Formats: sequence, structure tokens, C-alpha cells
Amino acid sequence: MKPRWVWHLHHDTLAEKVGPGCFYKSLADRQRNICETKGPSEHALRFRLMKYIKGKLPMSYKPTRYKLIVRLHAKECRNCPWDGGTIFAGKYACL
Ligand SMILES: [Zn+2]
Repeated sequence: MKPRWVWHLHHDTLAEKVGPGCFYKSLADRQRNICETKGPSEHALRFRLMKYIKGKLPMSYKPTRYKLIVRLHAKECRNCPWDGGTIFAGKYACL
């Protein structure tokens, strides 16, 4: 199994990889960690937004490719409060 890209594995990241060679081996691995370490008020939003990326992303995260990533994010992650720095933005800022 190869590493896979995930939206919002952490509240302050847009895209990260899970799998072999990564800190988290799977989405479920990170979800378990969230249940153990994050406040219950954060769980629903984190779990809704954290999902495998369907489209193709560049394996490197170069700034020149950031626009492509942002465009893919807008397509795949509907109703997302991501403000470029965190998912806890807008009406979710108080979680
Ligand atoms: Zn999003």
C-alpha cells in the first residue's frame, strides 16, 4: 500500500499523507488519536473534513502547485470553513 493524501489530517493543514513511512498509517489511525487527545466539541468537524483526496495531487508540496491543490480542495471539500490556516474558522472558531 502506498501513502495516500488526506484533506485536513490536522486542523492547520490542507493536505497530508498517511500510510507507510508516515506518522499516521491510516485515516482510522488518526481518528483514533483524535478521540484520545482532542475535545469532543471538535470531533464532528474534524471527522467530516478529514477524508482521502480523490483527485490527483503532486507528491511534493511546492508553492507553485498550491493553486492546483486549492482548486481541488474547493471541489472535493464542500462547505469547508478552511481559511488558509485552520478549519476552526468562521462559525467554528469557538470550538
Ligand atoms: Zn476543507
